[in-house]
Amino acid sequence: MLRDISRRKRAEEVQRFLAQASSVLAASLDHETTLASLARLAAGPLADFCFIDLIEDSGAVNRLVVAHADPGKEALAQQLLRYPLDRGRPHLVFTVLQTGEPELWPELPESYLESVAQSQDHLRLLRSLQIRSLLAVPLRAHGHLRGVLTLLTAQSGRRYPAEDLELAQELGRRAALAIENARLYREAQKAVRARDEVRSVVSHDLGNTLSAIFIGTELLLKTLPADSGQDETRRHLEAIRASAAQMERLIGNLLEIRRMEAGRLPLDCKPEEPAGLIAEACQVLQPLASVKSQHLEAELAADGLPRVLADRERVLQVLSNLVGNAVKYTPVGGLITVRAERRDAEVCILVKDTGPGIPAEHLPHIFERFWQVRQGGRRGIGLGLAIARGIVEAHGGRIWVESRAGAGSEFYFILPAAE
Ligand code: ADP
Repeated sequence: MLRDISRRKRAEEVQRFLAQASSVLAASLDHETTLASLARLAAGPLADFCFIDLIEDSGAVNRLVVAHADPGKEALAQQLLRYPLDRGRPHLVFTVLQTGEPELWPELPESYLESVAQSQDHLRLLRSLQIRSLLAVPLRAHGHLRGVLTLLTAQSGRRYPAEDLELAQELGRRAALAIENARLYREAQKAVRARDEVRSVVSHDLGNTLSAIFIGTELLLKTLPADSGQDETRRHLEAIRASAAQMERLIGNLLEIRRMEAGRLPLDCKPEEPAGLIAEACQVLQPLASVKSQHLEAELAADGLPRVLADRERVLQVLSNLVGNAVKYTPVGGLITVRAERRDAEVCILVKDTGPGIPAEHLPHIFERFWQVRQGGRRGIGLGLAIARGIVEAHGGRIWVESRAGAGSEFYFILPAAE
């Protein structure tokens, strides 16, 4: 029994070729490298030579890649890159870009080369390439036309049959997706760079300006006589100092998250008295609590606590974020308590408030980066708790929250005892 298997064989070859093309396209996010590899892959099984034109962000058409199956003719084909396409003259690439449709010329007439040549030199070069048949497909991804892939046959004498069009179009679709991915990757990188620049401007320039505000307010508060009858002025100055402290915490968080993202959060751990850490954090936040007429209390175990193994500055930041949040979210007149107690070989610190609490559905996410119960709320940036968790976990500790909507919040964290 005889059966014609040429169709099946061809279908298998096409699938193999497309699979190969996909892996070439996925190999790099640099579109020039990727497209050069693709052109090299196509020049051989699919074409004697091929080139790829891309539309630049400026709208100009740029011939990016030329590849020839015959290494001896590669240099000749490469010369095509020397002839920038003139929008004022007809060219197959412009036709495809205008119509968005593929072009298939099974047998290219000599007059065709004359009509598309950009100059006499260009015409000579085109003739020397002995182009026989031509296939050009648009590179379109997500509805956007990004360029044209042109396949040509020459010395092989092959003529493109209509069924090659489908294969070329599929190749074009895959290439366009790779170009689109590379473009999105470039944009994402640009956005990351812009974000980092903003962060460093915020952290350095704003930090310096804040220091000046701090020093100025401190000086004014010191020089204001206690019995000058200027209580109003004193209150305003304290409010300025408290706001500056809050901004400083925000900047500290921005810097810290950057370090965490970069995977470097070096800790300088020493034995520290928990009572001292709590007292210092409360002292810094007291003015802010006073502005809101809140009571901020530190409750320390009477029988003393073991020292904890901690990086002082970083644990102060955890406390500052937790107490800062309690002050921020608890209404005027509320009560905030900070307590520390021994739990076996560990010390547990609790920051408790009489604020609005956190709805149950938000509790699992509260320590995620940029998570806010009221999205886009203007009172923070959603980093404080993520940083607190990062720091506590880097110490080998744990952090969690117990809270109910309307019933206040209790944030706990545990640090290992030093001895
Ligand atoms: P930020 O305070 O900058 O928004 P955080 O990471 O510190 O970011 O907190 C995340 C969210 O958790 C806050 O937006 C807030 O909705 C909620 N939250 C944190 N602490 C408290 C608290 N003590 N009381 C009520 N809600 C809180």
